[in-house]
Amino acid sequence: MISREVEENLKKSSWIRKMFVEGAELKAIHGENNVYDYSIGNPYFEPPKKVVAKLREIVNSDELGTHKYMDNAGFPDVRQKVAEDINKDIIEPISHEHVMMTVGAAGGMNVVMRTILDPGQEVIIIAPYFAEYIFYIKNNNGVPVEVSTDPATFEPDLEALEAKITDKTRAIIINTPNNPTGVIYSEASLKALAAIVAKKEAEIGHEIFVISDEPYKAIIYDNMKAPNVHNIFKNSLIVNSYSKSLGLAGERIGYIAMNSKIEDTNMLMSGFSFANRTLGFVNAPALWQRVIADSLDDSVDIKEYEKRRDVLYNHLKSIGFEMVKPDGAFYLFPKAMIEDDVAFVMEAKKYNLLLVPGSGFGYPGYFRISYCVDMEMIERSLPAFTKLAESYKN
Ligand code: PLP
Repeated sequence: MISREVEENLKKSSWIRKMFVEGAELKAIHGENNVYDYSIGNPYFEPPKKVVAKLREIVNSDELGTHKYMDNAGFPDVRQKVAEDINKDIIEPISHEHVMMTVGAAGGMNVVMRTILDPGQEVIIIAPYFAEYIFYIKNNNGVPVEVSTDPATFEPDLEALEAKITDKTRAIIINTPNNPTGVIYSEASLKALAAIVAKKEAEIGHEIFVISDEPYKAIIYDNMKAPNVHNIFKNSLIVNSYSKSLGLAGERIGYIAMNSKIEDTNMLMSGFSFANRTLGFVNAPALWQRVIADSLDDSVDIKEYEKRRDVLYNHLKSIGFEMVKPDGAFYLFPKAMIEDDVAFVMEAKKYNLLLVPGSGFGYPGYFRISYCVDMEMIERSLPAFTKLAESYKN
């Protein structure tokens, strides 16, 4: 009925979805309040009031042509506003000509892959990674190549990364703040990566794109900042969305913003537009382009996510879990108390805790907690974490 490849992929089915489904089953047995579901990264907070007000205003408008096809790259005025938003901390400014509106970050990633990859070309991904990257690459005839991070910091292992670059390497995906670790890659580490990329580009004679997948860029704590990658790399592509920052995950709106230093930005934009059209997206949703254009300074309440991080991080630390303290996003990635992360996550289920094994992110031995959840659920779940930890101390 379906292709062998898709059938194979279905068998490997996402751990996140699997735990989410198991959560629903446990809730039916034990009751909603007695199951602690940390499986999925669905933004907890409703979009800001201003976003909803703008949406209402546009829906009520009688302006003609609002619902028609448009340039595949999106409305030029919206793209210009997005460019200006990115320019706030940029050295060499970009304009609407460098920005394409997309169907979320996922749509943007597929457009990028479709545009830059010839069959068999390689894309480096840095574990732990968002597992969908593998499919975004394979969907578009590329080959994912994994490199690891230092577990003490979750910064990329740059020596290993350099060793993996060959003449087939077309791109490197970075994701900072990171899903699943919450870590922001340091500026020093990104600059060291830029030096490696520049050296290798000269050796192999073609660009290596650095694709910076940034849906968590607005969700950052402790007054930290994630650097603007366009200041660090030459051939960089920012892929971003408003799924997490404005709580609009179901509405599917995001963008690709290319570095103005890229050699032929016109050709690249033509490629993106072609890919957006022929992958079937055609263009990003018109209504949501209009809404976000007026909401670029807005975000959900980041402090609320920070409170959740602090309660969980402090409690888990106090009961013996090893972790790197996240700088952003809404995930924690502690070390499992046994080597087998899948067995650990299964054990946690006995305490009605739904966690996702690190294996689902290419990083066994760890597990992910997605804390974009109700604060009261977090408070109720703390004794369950304590019992789970105690079960490994005997
Ligand atoms: N990239 C990362 C790292 C993510 O965590 C997600 C969603 O969870 C996406 C991309 C996809 O984002 P969007 O919903 O905007 O397509």
